[in-house]
Amino acid sequence: MEEINDVIVVKLNRTVAAFLRQSNTIAKAMINFRDADAFRSKCIELQNVALEALERAIAAREAQTAQTDRIRALEAEVAHLKSWNAERENYELKKCGEGSIAYMLKPEKRGSEPPHWLCPNCFATGQKSFLISTGKNEGRAWSYKCFACGAMPSCWPTPQWDRTA
Ligand SMILES: [Zn+2]
Repeated sequence: MEEINDVIVVKLNRTVAAFLRQSNTIAKAMINFRDADAFRSKCIELQNVALEALERAIAAREAQTAQTDRIRALEAEVAHLKSWNAERENYELKKCGEGSIAYMLKPEKRGSEPPHWLCPNCFATGQKSFLISTGKNEGRAWSYKCFACGAMPSCWPTPQWDRTA
């Protein structure tokens, strides 16, 4: 972020330097004018130069703000990915019924966590989403739902550490 700010500061310094050079040239010309119309014309020219410099400074500031916002968003995304990459290592893919799969905590990572299943679709996209029982059964399996992606796998019996490890 410092590099981008440095680039913007250089642009602003160039804008200010150009403004000072132009305004100095115009002011020198104004000193020699005795004609009121010529003087007024140079005043307008000076105002235009000042206005242009101000507009460039505002544009540079807006660009800086946009880039800073983008960098913050990317930093947050990187932090999320780092966190998720660390957490995903705690899980492994397991069978959770006939034809259904889900992620479960590895035995050494369970600690005091209650048994739970994570949606494999959401897991693949970097999102931790629990499979929640709908309370309905389908044949001998129970219907579960991922409220993030809408997947509804049939699982059996319920998430249990001892039976699924
Ligand atoms: Zn899902």
